[in-house]
Amino acid sequence: METARRISPAPAARPFALILNKLRNAGLRPTKQRMALAKLLFDRPATRHITAEQLYSEASAVGIQVSLATVYNTLHQFTDAKLLQEVVIQPGRTYFDSNTARHHHLLLGDDPSEVIDIDSSQIDFGRLPKIPSGMEIDSIHVVIRARVARAANAGADNE
Ligand SMILES: [Zn+2]
Repeated sequence: METARRISPAPAARPFALILNKLRNAGLRPTKQRMALAKLLFDRPATRHITAEQLYSEASAVGIQVSLATVYNTLHQFTDAKLLQEVVIQPGRTYFDSNTARHHHLLLGDDPSEVIDIDSSQIDFGRLPKIPSGMEIDSIHVVIRARVARAANAGADNE
């Protein structure tokens, strides 16, 4: 039993160790609250786009005792440590993105919207405005908003 465990660690132990290392490598002390929030953010295969309020709700739902202010602070600490990036995808709403590479976003629907990553290689810029001399473009962030096609709506009404 003991030998078997050493050969293949329990599945739950692996993500914990990965998250612990992630925080340590980023120079963050792995406090209980940081670990709990990091698990919600990083312990899944898909990229997460989450607001502080959403993370606070998720944490509360699984019994993590943390204040909204702590969630905000932790998200900003993770952002400073480059574990997350802050992106403005919708006016008045700040998303924290677990994909820290440069990329664009596809927004589906209104509220709540689904946010999908678009790889930079999928968008091509044929023409860009002139930048003042001595300056260069540092980054471009495209947000594509998609809604249900009008033609599809009309078709549904006619039938
Ligand atoms: Zn993203």
